[in-house]
Amino acid sequence: MRRFSANYIFTNTGKPIRNGVVEVDDNGVVVDIIEHIDGVKEYAHTEFRNGIIVPGFVNAHCHTELSHLKGKVEPKTGLASFVNQIRNHRLDGLRGEELSISRAIEQITQQGTVAVADICNTSDSFSAKQKSGVKFINLVEVLGIESEKADSILERAKVISEVSANQLGMPAYITPHSVYSLSAKLWERLSGALKNCPIVSIHFAESLDEARFTNERAGGIYDNYVEWGLPFSDAPSASPVNILKSYLPKDCRLLLVHNTFMDELQLCEVKDYFTNTYLVLCPSSNLYIEQTMPNVPMLSASGVKIALGTDSFASSPTLSIFDQIQLILTHFPLIEFTQVLQWATIYGAQALGLEHSLGTIENGKKPGLNLISPFNFSEMKPYPHSKVKPLL
Ligand SMILES: [Zn+2]
Repeated sequence: MRRFSANYIFTNTGKPIRNGVVEVDDNGVVVDIIEHIDGVKEYAHTEFRNGIIVPGFVNAHCHTELSHLKGKVEPKTGLASFVNQIRNHRLDGLRGEELSISRAIEQITQQGTVAVADICNTSDSFSAKQKSGVKFINLVEVLGIESEKADSILERAKVISEVSANQLGMPAYITPHSVYSLSAKLWERLSGALKNCPIVSIHFAESLDEARFTNERAGGIYDNYVEWGLPFSDAPSASPVNILKSYLPKDCRLLLVHNTFMDELQLCEVKDYFTNTYLVLCPSSNLYIEQTMPNVPMLSASGVKIALGTDSFASSPTLSIFDQIQLILTHFPLIEFTQVLQWATIYGAQALGLEHSLGTIENGKKPGLNLISPFNFSEMKPYPHSKVKPLL
């Protein structure tokens, strides 16, 4: 049993509790939250810290298996060039290895992240995950623009999903990579497999080139396919939102990842059709690849829930969710910290289907506890130099 206290406890279930105390059992499960409303202060056996205590963070989009590409992809070149560079590294035989993945997971843990939605194109990351205390939701991404390969691509994804089930105790969910990288045949095959899938996660509006390819057969992604000699005539030819609507169940738990170039019309179309959508923002990756931030105030005002992710070390210098919070607060000073904290915790937990145990500090949950220090109490937000540290 341990007791933690700080200047404020942000439970995410009400107003921050001044000088509150959180008591957890030996497994990290919250057993009591003491508010001191009667003026009697209980500090016996309590570890008091300067700063604030918040729930553990949830990373709603990562690719730990790409950790070996840290520093190997040229920044600020746009998505089409990024995809090309990743493809070249793969063709050169550069593969994920356990050491870089283990180191990445160690950093993720030290930066206060307790759960990650992790994209897997291979089973390279599974051994490192077995040794970690982080909760991983594994998503096997399928992509392939050539129709004749659709069946083999889906079969391979099913094999990786089974390996995950055998090695990690839960299957990896099969999910589409993006609207521009699957043939219609692969979409159709996948669409059947997605009917009972709890999560669909897809890269979306990460670049203007996506819609230019699907709508007009033009732009950087189109140029890549021509240069690579890939037959793309069978790829769906429609607007990105219409492609989603054609193949995904209306009520699926839909994680749209990036939304860097999402406009109001697209957002309305998504909101009008899909009933359980999360907009996953990965600001450090967007700045690395496209030098652009999503229109966070517009996305936030829509009422569609937002969660935070990092993408991989191939496109982001950091896998820290706290760094994503800081980037959003720096670029959009009118957005409140308490709101972004919800995106980083409870909405991320909901996006991953883990809200029963993570995201808020409540009795019976095991959310992890993070200390943010120092903290700007007059503006109720972190300083640019604030640090996060897990307490458990
Ligand atoms: Zn990604």
